[in-house]
Amino acid sequence: MVGTVSTFNSERAPCGRKVGGERTREDDSEGLLMDTIIYKCGCRWVREQYHDGSFDVRVVRHDGRILSDEHSGMHEG
Ligand SMILES: [Zn+2]
Repeated sequence: MVGTVSTFNSERAPCGRKVGGERTREDDSEGLLMDTIIYKCGCRWVREQYHDGSFDVRVVRHDGRILSDEHSGMHEG
């Protein structure tokens, strides 16, 4: 597992505030890529990408409300 952490000072959080936070990218040997952003206000944005190219994106506001939870597959059509 390889993880990279970077910080930012002013980004627009899912709730609309401009706050700082931390971004983590993790890559495991099986091709799973995980991208997590944790904002200072408590909002979270998580993206998991699988080896087949499909991914899940989940956005959780600082009060715990799920704003978005979607799955994108590679299915044709
Ligand atoms: Zn927030």
